[in-house]
Amino acid sequence: MHNNNGITGGGAANNATVQSGDRQALNSLLKDATNSGTQPLSVDDANTVLNWALEQKIPGVRASSGDVGVPSNWTANPAQPHVHIPGTGLGNHIPVESGGTPR
Ligand SMILES: [Zn+2]
Repeated sequence: MHNNNGITGGGAANNATVQSGDRQALNSLLKDATNSGTQPLSVDDANTVLNWALEQKIPGVRASSGDVGVPSNWTANPAQPHVHIPGTGLGNHIPVESGGTPR
C-alpha cells in the first residue's frame, strides 16, 4: 500500500471535466501533499498530476530521466528525484519518490 497523500489516483486530477481554473486547486493540493515541497509524492500521485498538467499543456512541465533519476539534476538536492510543474509555488521542483517514469 502506498500513501495517497490525499490525491486519489484517477480521481479529480485525472478527470476530463477538470477546468483549467482548477490549477490553483492543484497547486494547493500539491503544497499539502508534499508538505510545502519537503515530502516526496508517491510515483502514482506524481503520474496523476503529471498527466493532468500535460493535458493542460502547462509550459515547462517535465519529468526527464535527469529529473526522476538518482542522482537527479536538482542542483540543490541531487539525492531527491523530482518533477517540474511550473507555477506551483514549490520552486518548480516537486519531490517524488524514486522509480518514476521519464516523460
Ligand atoms: Zn530537474
